[in-house]
Amino acid sequence: MLMKNRLISDLRKKLPHFNVLATLEERYAYAQDATNVRKIESLPDAVVFVETIEQVQSVVRIANKYRIPVICRGAGTNVVGACVVQHGGVILNFSKMNKIIEINKENMTAVVEPGVVLGDLQKEVENLGLFYPPDPSNLAVSTIGGSIAQSSGGAKSFKYGTTKDYIIDLKVVMANGELLQTGANTIKNATGYNLGSLFVGSEGTLGIVVEATLKLIPKPESKKVIMAYFDTVKEAVEAVNSIIEQRVFPATIDFMDQNAIKTVEQYYPTGLLTDKDAALIIEIDGFECTMDYQEKIVTGILKVSNASEIKVSHNEQEYSNIWMARRSSMAACAKLKPNVTTDDVIVPRENLEKLVLGIRAICEKYRLDVCMVGHVGDGSVHPQIPINYKDEDEYNRYKLAKSEIYNLTAQLGGILSGEHGIGSEKRAHIHKVINSTALNYMRKIKRIFDPNNILNPYKIF
Ligand SMILES: Cc1cc2nc3c(=O)[nH]c(=O)nc-3n(C[C@H](O)[C@H](O)[C@H](O)COP(=O)(O)OP(=O)(O)OC[C@H]3O[C@@H](n4cnc5c(N)ncnc54)[C@H](O)[C@@H]3O)c2cc1C
Repeated sequence: MLMKNRLISDLRKKLPHFNVLATLEERYAYAQDATNVRKIESLPDAVVFVETIEQVQSVVRIANKYRIPVICRGAGTNVVGACVVQHGGVILNFSKMNKIIEINKENMTAVVEPGVVLGDLQKEVENLGLFYPPDPSNLAVSTIGGSIAQSSGGAKSFKYGTTKDYIIDLKVVMANGELLQTGANTIKNATGYNLGSLFVGSEGTLGIVVEATLKLIPKPESKKVIMAYFDTVKEAVEAVNSIIEQRVFPATIDFMDQNAIKTVEQYYPTGLLTDKDAALIIEIDGFECTMDYQEKIVTGILKVSNASEIKVSHNEQEYSNIWMARRSSMAACAKLKPNVTTDDVIVPRENLEKLVLGIRAICEKYRLDVCMVGHVGDGSVHPQIPINYKDEDEYNRYKLAKSEIYNLTAQLGGILSGEHGIGSEKRAHIHKVINSTALNYMRKIKRIFDPNNILNPYKIF
């Protein structure tokens, strides 16, 4: 208690009083994230709203002095327990460090603070004819800092890659309070080790991102979305392969299975066809003069692949309706039971069908409902499982199913996350897909960057 009082008093000496929260209610509100873990194991000792790089450095130095964890928080929307508190600590909240510092049209770069909301940045750059593609489904709230730390992706990863492909330079506060810069404002960089790539996807365990320079690209002139329904999952997956084999390169190839379609239509009706076993959501983009041509090729392939119904968006409203349906899947699924879990497994595309059908079979075996969506163009699947955490038997069945899904993913040559990260939720399973030598090197890197293990400990491995 004495140490906690000293900690709060030290924090209040360095930060405005109202930026340090320490009541029980305030600490409780920050013990969880969107993962909605079953049990809150521990509360943070304090929640700190930082506004400057110097404040971040001060907080880290204080935490280092008391050897207590520092857990960064953007919007808290990760779904792997990456912000969950396990043994107390300070939550470093970035919601007030949310300035877009510069958008440079000539360099095609944006310099931002970590608390900038991803969707806000996208709107700003699109107004200037530029484009920042990473698009996690909840981009209306999630932050740049969180997306860098989780290496977030989204539907457009198929064509445009994930967050890691758009990081040019980072300013990072290290565990001892030093400020490190990983690169420069140049498009290419072959100057020394690529330290920036270590921080992307490191879930706040190696350093704290306090400023990022992001690569922008020209905004595609036009876009359209095509929703195709199939009577079997097999046909839908075969259609994905056919599109790719024909060397068409849509911006997205996303997927909803029948349970996802039915559940979304039940709670957020937009006229989805609930009798179909699967649907693909394919976005095409590019120059306006190419759109009809692209649409003709894609719909042609879909017809040959036995699509039983094809809908093409003809205006902004129809475009938004289709994406709204896909993006509502987790919210809809959450209405089926008191809790919902989502996952993010990814396999080489050739094994996609085995993964989707395998997950269905595993969930059937354990008597669990599952709504499956995914960015299937990448081979990535998000099984969303509604569950009642208070039902001990159901929870145990869920744990067994989750473990089997990871075993299956490993057998199919896949990995445990393409874009959500590992956090606290999957760390017990990481050895299934990362070999022990690689894990040992990861641990060594962690020890070099953070010798006192204060940066988001108990995550990843
Ligand atoms: C409904 C829903 C849909 C989603 N869809 C997708 C999707 O399509 N694709 C996808 O990739 N993800 C998706 N996600 C996951 C989520 O959007 C991402 O993980 C997101 O980028 C997290 O951003 P955040 O600001 O909420 O980060 P938080 O949850 O606050 O933090 C995530 C991690 O980042 C660390 N962190 C935060 N800021 C910093 C910083 N400045 N420096 C260092 N570390 C930091 C935290 O400590 C934590 O480890 C979805 C989540 C939900 C709830």
